[in-house]
Amino acid sequence: MSTLFHGGRKLDSDGQVDDFWMIVDGDTITETGSGQAPDMAATSERVNVDGNWIVPGFIDLHGHGGGGHSYDDSADDIRAALATHRAHGTTRSVLSLVANPIAQLRASLAVIADLADEDPTILGSHLEGPFLSEDKRGAHNPAYLKAPLPFEVEELIGAGRGSLKLLTLAPELPGALEAIDVLVEAGVVVGVGHTDADFDLTHESFNRGARILTHAFNAMNGIHHRAPGPIIAAFEDERVTIELILDGQHVHPDVAGMAFRGAPGRIALITDAMAAAGSSDGDYPLGTLNVTVRDGLAVLRGTQTIAGSTLTQDVALRNAVEHASVHPIEAIAALTAVPARALGLEHRLGRLAPGYAADAVILDKGLQVQRVWANGSPVG
Ligand SMILES: [Zn+2]
Repeated sequence: MSTLFHGGRKLDSDGQVDDFWMIVDGDTITETGSGQAPDMAATSERVNVDGNWIVPGFIDLHGHGGGGHSYDDSADDIRAALATHRAHGTTRSVLSLVANPIAQLRASLAVIADLADEDPTILGSHLEGPFLSEDKRGAHNPAYLKAPLPFEVEELIGAGRGSLKLLTLAPELPGALEAIDVLVEAGVVVGVGHTDADFDLTHESFNRGARILTHAFNAMNGIHHRAPGPIIAAFEDERVTIELILDGQHVHPDVAGMAFRGAPGRIALITDAMAAAGSSDGDYPLGTLNVTVRDGLAVLRGTQTIAGSTLTQDVALRNAVEHASVHPIEAIAALTAVPARALGLEHRLGRLAPGYAADAVILDKGLQVQRVWANGSPVG
């Protein structure tokens, strides 16, 4: 059974195509074009995009949960959190785990490995910790932060059974550069983050194989004219993808706009969402810590420390276009082709083209989500 999408305006990293059509067969886009759509058999389904935008499904490299649920918890919690984000256009997710004892992280990695086996929209897991700087810990429990020991790194890689895709570490920790070697060798993408690293150490980390700057500007040294720090090291390095939380609170929209101009084609808009995303204000756990959410801002209870976001990727898209003056094609790329490439999945995800996964979002003229397809299936 194939589906013909027609009458839309396509927007992806290749650019804009008006009067766009595409044919989806199962989980894959098989044909695309513009103008007169091909005659389809009477059994085929037709979706009239009706002059709206059609864009690839969003890919979130970094999120902790949503809809009242966390990726650190049970398989049912994970499914519920994913469903919340899917309704906001996120069709593929890397599931981020906060710092916890190694044994608990291994158990969480095993849960995600099982889920990823059965659900192709789960791209794998991201260990955000425990190998982080205590000074830049943000909302990670300092009791669980530590320097990487080689056998622990091996155990974590093993527990993921191939599904550990990303690991964020602070390269100044003893053994961290050696850990980068081991992780890269195992096919894990390494992010530099929650770190006190300077320009030189960050540059060295990228030369060792690290390829992501984890939520740029947050939980790291800023840009100083005599101490350029990790952000400039990432701007200068064409190999590196720069994560950005564009919720209007983690990074000022004008700084976000500067990042897009400073590293064209290398900004990945992530959510870093915690359980309150797509849910209501109130009290939530984040790992073992308590978080209060008021007016959508999540902070560690009783402090001013931001503790993840309540962002969804459709909101990040609108913030980029409306508040950070990012061109819509660049903004869409930051949600699709850029994160796909960061994971080495640029031949299957992130574009509306033949051979690509049938992940698509229809957006109205105000960039509000109308309908979503994930892996060929309609959502909701
Ligand atoms: Zn973080």
